[in-house]
Amino acid sequence: MGGKWLSGNGYWVRRVVSNGNVTYPYEHKIIAEDILGRPLKKNERVWWVDGNRSNLDHSNLVICDVRFSAILRMRMRAYLECNNPNLLYCNRCSKWKNPRFFFTHNRSVSGKGAYCRACTRNIIDEGIRLKQLGIQRKQKFSES
Ligand SMILES: [Zn+2]
Repeated sequence: MGGKWLSGNGYWVRRVVSNGNVTYPYEHKIIAEDILGRPLKKNERVWWVDGNRSNLDHSNLVICDVRFSAILRMRMRAYLECNNPNLLYCNRCSKWKNPRFFFTHNRSVSGKGAYCRACTRNIIDEGIRLKQLGIQRKQKFSES
């Protein structure tokens, strides 16, 4: 007894009954594990080439590690929002910018926590100013 349906978050879910136990695994996970011939590892994710989570055609699924899927997600977002997959997103000024506007050490390829050069400088300047005023950064944030 099984059956599958599209969940609210756009994933196909399957009802699996085994030894009297009912589980609801994601269909893409079942397909990926079937292709691999083993369970997905903790750091492995399924990526949808066309961005459509309900499209389970094998040519639309890529199994990759979590870091690579983060890079793909960022590049796809940049492409969809700016028509340029090479741009990076600054999480402080909320702008898409050329990677050259990011410090190398701060240029997270997945864009997570990445701040552009200008924002990084502002943060440092702000920190220096607060220090000069004798204000701890922590205090400032706890007040807001
Ligand atoms: Zn910025």
